[in-house]
Amino acid sequence: AGVDVYAVAGNPIAHSKSPAIHQRFAEQAKQRMHYGRLQPEVGAFAQAAKAFFAAGGKGMNVTVPFKLDAQNLADVLTPRAQLAGAVNTLWKTEGKIFGDNTDGAGLVRDLLAQGIDLHSARILLIGAGGAARGVIGPLLEQAPKSFIIANRSSAKADELVKLFADLAASKEVALESRTLADLEDPAKTQYPFDLVINATAAGLTDESPLSSQAVSNIFVPSSFAYDMVYGKTTAFMQQALQRGARVSDGLGMLVEQAADAFLLWRGAHLTNLIDPRVVLAELRS
Ligand code: NDP
Repeated sequence: AGVDVYAVAGNPIAHSKSPAIHQRFAEQAKQRMHYGRLQPEVGAFAQAAKAFFAAGGKGMNVTVPFKLDAQNLADVLTPRAQLAGAVNTLWKTEGKIFGDNTDGAGLVRDLLAQGIDLHSARILLIGAGGAARGVIGPLLEQAPKSFIIANRSSAKADELVKLFADLAASKEVALESRTLADLEDPAKTQYPFDLVINATAAGLTDESPLSSQAVSNIFVPSSFAYDMVYGKTTAFMQQALQRGARVSDGLGMLVEQAADAFLLWRGAHLTNLIDPRVVLAELRS
C-alpha cells in the first residue's frame, strides 16, 4: 500500500495553513502521510467527500463553509460533534465515516496555554455560526462564571442558548443571549468581560462586530480578546488593544485543533511525540 492520504476541504482553501501544520506533526511523530487541499463547489461537498474516501482517503479536515455538510455526511458522530451540530474532522474505518469536532478543545487548549483562567471567567462569545457552535460545549465544560452569546441576528444566539442550556445548568453557568445592539446598552448586560471571543466572519473583511459604544462597555485592561481569524491584527483586536486589553488571533486554535485531528487519525499513542506549541512558534516566525 502507498502512503496514507488526508486533505482539508473548504471553499476557498488555497491559503489554508492546515497542510503545513500536519506536515510538521508528521515529521515530529515520524509518520508517513500525504495531506492535500480540496475545494468542492458550494453544495457539492458530499459528492467530493464520498469520492475522496472511495478513492482510499483516510481522513479529512473540514472548514468554512462545509462543517454542517460534514456532520450530515458522517455515519457516526462523537457526542461533542453531535452537540455542536458541526464537524471539522472526518475519518473512515471499517467502511464507516466518523465525524468529530476538535475546534472547541483546540480553542480551550490555546487559551490555557496563554494563561487564561477559564474557570471563574466572565465570557462573551460573539457570533452564532459554525465556529461558535463548536466551541460553546468545551468552554462550558471549564465551568466559567458566566457566558453570553451575542449575535447580529438574535434568533441564532437564542437557539444556541437553548441547545446548551442543560450543559450550562450542570456546570452552574449562567448562559444567556444578546444581540450586538444590546451590547451598546450599559444596562442590558453585566460589564466588563474577562474573555471576549470573536467567532464571526467579520474579521475576514476588516470589519469588527463591535461598535465603539459596545467596545467601551466590554473591555478593561484585564480583558483578553481572542479573534478566531488568524494571520492579522483584526479590527476587533485593534479595538481591544486601544482599551489596553491583551489580544490573540486564532492561529493557536488552528494548530491545536489540528493536533487533535492528527491524533484521532494516527493514534493517541503519538500524543507525546507532537508539540503544537513548537509548530505554532514555527508558523509565527
Ligand atoms: P458562519 O458563516 O457559520 O457564521 C458567521 C457568523 O458571523 C454569524 O454569527 C454571523 O452573524 C456573523 N457575521 C458575519 N459577518 C458579520 C459582520 N460583518 N458583523 C457581525 N457579525 C457578522 O462562519 P463560521 O462560524 O464557520 O466561521 C467564523 C469565523 O471563524 C471564520 O472567519 C473562520 O475562518 C473562523 N474559524 C477559525 C478557526 C480556527 O481554528 N482559528 C476554526 C473555525 C472557524 P449572523 O448570524 O447575524 O449572520
